[in-house]
Amino acid sequence: MSRGRPRIGVLALQGDVREHQRALDAVGAEPVRVRRPADVAGLDGLVLPGGESTTIGKLATTFGLLEPLREAVREGLPAYGSCAGMILLANEIAGGLDDQPRIGGLDVTVRRNAFGRQVDSFEGAVEMAGVAGGAVPAVFIRAPWVESVGDGVEVLARLGTAVHSRSTGRGPGPAAATIVAVRQGRLLATSFHPELTGDPRVHALFVEMVKGQS
Ligand code: GLN
Repeated sequence: MSRGRPRIGVLALQGDVREHQRALDAVGAEPVRVRRPADVAGLDGLVLPGGESTTIGKLATTFGLLEPLREAVREGLPAYGSCAGMILLANEIAGGLDDQPRIGGLDVTVRRNAFGRQVDSFEGAVEMAGVAGGAVPAVFIRAPWVESVGDGVEVLARLGTAVHSRSTGRGPGPAAATIVAVRQGRLLATSFHPELTGDPRVHALFVEMVKGQS
């Protein structure tokens, strides 16, 4: 890790890559785009962006990236997945395509598009363990939730107050209290997109994890 600025790869096949780069830059990391297997070498951490998990998985397979990424995560590379990225990190995917390509490593079952059509996009406020300073603003876009967690997985956040639904103007109702952020060792995942809010605290937590300070 040179000059104290950890080099963090952002998987740049599809999704909100630029927003993650910006958030990482804001918390003192050096973001780099990962598109080819050679880009995986020399990373201190990896971010898997939001987008469409089936598309990202297929492109990662096509570009020969899936195996190198799996290997890197298996060998201990810290990784953070938001939304589609959370799905890519999950060992089990409910509501996914059969044999949907994934990186895996996180001992959770994640349900795709879990919040249903009527509330497929909304903003909430989430109290998150390890993140000081009050609830984190969180944007949920056709988000997954975590249905079950294995023994080594820490639940960091459950859905708190929904501010409004972008599509209906209502909150998520029965979905409240579902698990929306988890950590297992050096793997972090959120159902939501902190990179779209301008609040860098979740990325700061990840950078602390990368530096071994959290
Ligand atoms: N529903 C998407 C998927 O299954 C995830 C949505 C997102 O990343 N905003 O991949």
